[in-house]
Amino acid sequence: MKTKQTIENIKLATLNKITSYFKNPSRHDFGCYGNSTSEDRDIAIRLLLEDMEYQIEEAKAEEKKDVETKTRALKMKKATQSAQLKTVLFPACENHEGRKAIEVCLRWICPVCGEPRGEIKKTDYIDGSGAVLKADGWENGCGHKEKMRKIRNEAANNGYNNAKTIVSGELVYKSQI
Ligand SMILES: [Zn+2]
Repeated sequence: MKTKQTIENIKLATLNKITSYFKNPSRHDFGCYGNSTSEDRDIAIRLLLEDMEYQIEEAKAEEKKDVETKTRALKMKKATQSAQLKTVLFPACENHEGRKAIEVCLRWICPVCGEPRGEIKKTDYIDGSGAVLKADGWENGCGHKEKMRKIRNEAANNGYNNAKTIVSGELVYKSQI
């Protein structure tokens, strides 16, 4: 285990510091406690041990984060492999003028957590000029909100769509319903 090794190293490094401190108390890391009274020594050692505990906690937290990241990546991989495919219509670009829409195929999973995306319902998309485009929208049951820009990007890169067309948003696959 990586963490076990790291913790062993932290303990060893602390032990080395304490040993070197006892060998030459006036030249240790804690210069302000260099007078070698027993009180100085107590303080210096306590600080070294506290620092060791802190480093161990950090190493454990790091390991936990790594495990969580790997678990999440594995879950996403599985979800991606078994995902349902759905074709949706949504704005081709930010200023869609009420008519620039694209129809794209998406893996029906939330890109953050891998849970299935929400039910498709007709949604009004209003651009900067106030033009309304009726297209598909959904709310994810997991609570993760999605940005249209990211969805377009996903469509451009998931291998099911014409990436160039989607990114430029210039070609209209389907007119407004
Ligand atoms: Zn989610």
